[in-house]
Amino acid sequence: MSGVKFGIMQNLYQKIQKIETIQAEADKATKAFKNRYSIDCLEHCAECCKYKDINATPLEFLPLAWHFYKSGQLEEVFEKVSNHNEPQCVFSVFEDGKWGCKVYPTRGLICRLFGFASVEDKHGKSCFAACHCLKQKCPEEIKQICEKINNGGKTPIIADFYRKLSMLDLNLGDELVPINKAIKEACEVIYMHTAYRS
Ligand code: SF4
Ligand code: SF4
Repeated sequence: MSGVKFGIMQNLYQKIQKIETIQAEADKATKAFKNRYSIDCLEHCAECCKYKDINATPLEFLPLAWHFYKSGQLEEVFEKVSNHNEPQCVFSVFEDGKWGCKVYPTRGLICRLFGFASVEDKHGKSCFAACHCLKQKCPEEIKQICEKINNGGKTPIIADFYRKLSMLDLNLGDELVPINKAIKEACEVIYMHTAYRS
């Protein structure tokens, strides 16, 4: 591999490591949120992976695409996501008694934050973005958590994580697109970086 190609690969790999660090921080923050407010997902629920309007950045799926490159499945996954014509995430599975995410350890940033983090309103006030399932199942608990957060209770802020992410790559990390498009673009980036590697 030439020096230039080695440098490009090294930059890519360092970027992937930094994305993984942000994702690990998101995991830690949502875990702390669950403990702090004694709330968690409903048992065997993966309803949010069925949503048809999940948006994400290509950048947050670079670690996933890298993982598939390393396991020799990148082209297969690219084909799969390219031919996937449903709005739901290509990695969600709800059949044959299976449910949920097929790529859980390498899922995106939004997948890690969703349900246990807050959005900011136009005045910069944090507002708990609870999922529909928890709102329906335990409205009182959700109301209490909202009140605690209104009164200064700690909460991860989704936009803070995305701001950090976009600092790593304004091109791939700034724009939210439908999740399958984000996954496909991440696969393309890894493919372009690795196609002529040897
Ligand atoms: S965040 Fe809500 S919809 Fe998603 S798995 Fe948890 S309980 Fe279910
Ligand atoms: S990557 Fe996994 S967790 Fe994220 S939306 Fe798709 S199926 Fe759900």
